Amino acid sequence: MIGPHRFDPTILREYDIRGVVGKTLSRTDAEAIGRAFGTRVAENGGRRVAVGRDGRLSSPEMEAGVVDGLRAAGIDVLRVGGCPTPTLYFAVYELEADGGIMITGSHNPPDYNGFKMMIGKRPFFGADIQGIGPLAAEGAYATGAGSVQDVDLLGRYTERLLQDYRPGRELTVVWDCGNGATGPVVEALAARLPGRHKVLFPEVDGTFPNHHPDPTVPETLEILREAVAEAKADLGIAFDGDGDRIGVIDEKGRVLWGDQLVAIYATEILAEHPGATVIADVKASQVLFDRIAELGGKPLMWKTGHSLIKTKMAETGAPLAGEMSGHLFFKDRYYGFDDALYAAVRLMSLLARTDRPMSALRDELPEVLNTPEVRFPCSEERKFAAVVEVKAALAGRTDVQVNDVDGVRVTSEDGWWLLRASNTQDVLVARCESRTEAGLERLKAQLRAALDGVGIAAPDSF
Ligand SMILES: [Zn+2]
Repeated sequence: MIGPHRFDPTILREYDIRGVVGKTLSRTDAEAIGRAFGTRVAENGGRRVAVGRDGRLSSPEMEAGVVDGLRAAGIDVLRVGGCPTPTLYFAVYELEADGGIMITGSHNPPDYNGFKMMIGKRPFFGADIQGIGPLAAEGAYATGAGSVQDVDLLGRYTERLLQDYRPGRELTVVWDCGNGATGPVVEALAARLPGRHKVLFPEVDGTFPNHHPDPTVPETLEILREAVAEAKADLGIAFDGDGDRIGVIDEKGRVLWGDQLVAIYATEILAEHPGATVIADVKASQVLFDRIAELGGKPLMWKTGHSLIKTKMAETGAPLAGEMSGHLFFKDRYYGFDDALYAAVRLMSLLARTDRPMSALRDELPEVLNTPEVRFPCSEERKFAAVVEVKAALAGRTDVQVNDVDGVRVTSEDGWWLLRASNTQDVLVARCESRTEAGLERLKAQLRAALDGVGIAAPDSF
C-alpha cells in the first residue's frame, strides 16, 4: 500500500497531471495519485470512481496503479477500460459515480501519459490538483479496501451519441482517428449512421504510426484532406488522441477552426434557446462574438482551458461553448462536457438537414485576416509578469479597449491583438486579427512594440 510520496514538481499542472513515463511519471506516482484523489472523493462524501484509459502503451500500467491507489483509499472502482476521454466523462453521469479519472496523454508524444479528473460532476483542476502534492507528501490518505468492477460502456455511449442525430440527406464522411482512443467508437458510429463513411486509422496504437493525433496542427490533417478529395466527401472529421478535441475539413479541403464551428452550431442552438449565452475563449475570432450577438445570443469571452470553460458554463447556464483548440461543449440536449465525438454527430446532423455544402456554412462568416496562435518561449517566472506589465503600459489609452479576462486582448479600429501566458507551458501566446492587410500589419507592430517595452523579443512572424 502506497505511503507518503513526492511527485516530480513538473507533473501537477493547471488542468491535468501529465509527465514522461519512466522520467517524471511512474506506476508508483499513479498509485499515489489514485490514493490522494480517492481521499478527496471520500472527503466529499463519495464512494465510487470511474476509471478509463487511452490507447497508450503505458496506460494499462498507469491504470493498475491508479486502481490500487483508489481501492486503498476505500473507493469502489468502476473500470471502463480503453475509451476516449468523453466516454469516461459520460460514465461518471451514466453510472452516477462520485468522480472519474481518465488516464491519457491526450495529443502528446507517445512517451507521455497523464490524468484528467472529475470530482462529482465538475472538473478537478487548479487548486484541487495542486493540493494533491502536499496530501501525498504527508501521506494523509483515507484508508479502506474498495472493490473493482469492469463495466463495458462503449455500446451505451454510442447509443447516447446516436440519440441526438436528426436525419436528413445522406452524407459522405471521412473520419480520421489517428490511431487514438476514438477508433472503436467511430467504427460503431460509422456502421450505424446513414450515408457513406470511410474511417482512417481506427486501430488503437499508442505508437501513432500514421500521423500525430493533434488536429490543431494543420499538417496532421493532410491525409484526411486527400481522402476527402478522393472520396468527394461532404466533410472530414479528425480527433486528437483522446477524443476531446475535433478538427474539421470542408469539402474543399479547408480547415474549420473551433471558433468557426461554434458559429455554425450557434445558429441552430440560439434558434432553440433565444437569448442564451454562448462562450468562447479569448483566442477566438471577433467574427464569432459578433455572430452570436447577431443571432440574438449573449457572447461571453472567457479564459482558455477546458476546465475553466466547463466551470463558466455551469455558472452561466450556457448551452454551447468552444475553444479555438477544438474543445466543444454542448449543454443543449447533452451534459456540457467537451466531447468531440458528440460534436461530430451534431455537425453531421446539422449538415444533413441543409442543402448547402459545409463550405457554404463556413463562408457565411465574414472573411478576416488573422495570424495563427503564435507560441514563443518565456520563463515561468517572467511570463505572467510580462503580461501584467504590458497591460499597465496600456493604462489611460483611449484609442483601444483592453479586455483582461485572460492575458490582454486589445481591440482598436484595426481589429485586435492578444497576449496571454500559457497555463500549461513556459510560453507566451500571441494572435492578431484584422479585416485588412494594412490593419493586420499595424496590429503586429503594436504587439511587437508592447513586447519590446517589457524587454521581450517578439517572435519572428511578428
Ligand atoms: Zn485531448
